[in-house]
Amino acid sequence: MPFTPYHFGPSGFLGLVFRKWIDIPVFVLANVIVDVEVLVVMIFGLGWPPHRYCHTLLIGGVVGMLWGIAAYPLRHIFKKIMRIFHIPYKPHFLKMVISGIIGVWLHVLIDGFCHIDLRIFWPSKEFNWSFTPLGIITYIFTGHIYRNVISIKELETICIAFFFASFIVYIIILLTSKKNVVKNKMSKEE
Ligand SMILES: [Zn+2]
Repeated sequence: MPFTPYHFGPSGFLGLVFRKWIDIPVFVLANVIVDVEVLVVMIFGLGWPPHRYCHTLLIGGVVGMLWGIAAYPLRHIFKKIMRIFHIPYKPHFLKMVISGIIGVWLHVLIDGFCHIDLRIFWPSKEFNWSFTPLGIITYIFTGHIYRNVISIKELETICIAFFFASFIVYIIILLTSKKNVVKNKMSKEE
């Protein structure tokens, strides 16, 4: 993690902005579900670092895909919830599966900025050591790997900023959908 709720910020923001292509509930919840791994490793004292198998692109992608498939029968519940929030919602199987995968990937990338036990490209031998996405970026540009350059506190602040940004996007969605309702009403009356 950063503590799981912080993931609501970036996932909510990206989900709302790209809502035409992303299934928001599946995407956002994928960001939560993947941290079950951390809980399980800690509670059962499994003896390996908490961000291990599900916190990789490979296994994480599979987890996200399975979550997308499992979420498909729940689409009617999601529809009701989205209606309460007045967010347009059109569920589609493939969209749900892809949203599950990229939801987990987003989580893994964000976690990778501050957890050195995370191995994004596992089981690649070449990258068989802990490093962060920022480490990869700095490696590409400078040839050096800077690990753990962002503190958890800094990352949490960024996540909170995204939370406020998603709130602004949400208000814009509400205002534009209201405008459209008024427009449709007027054109029907003409
Ligand atoms: Zn995590």
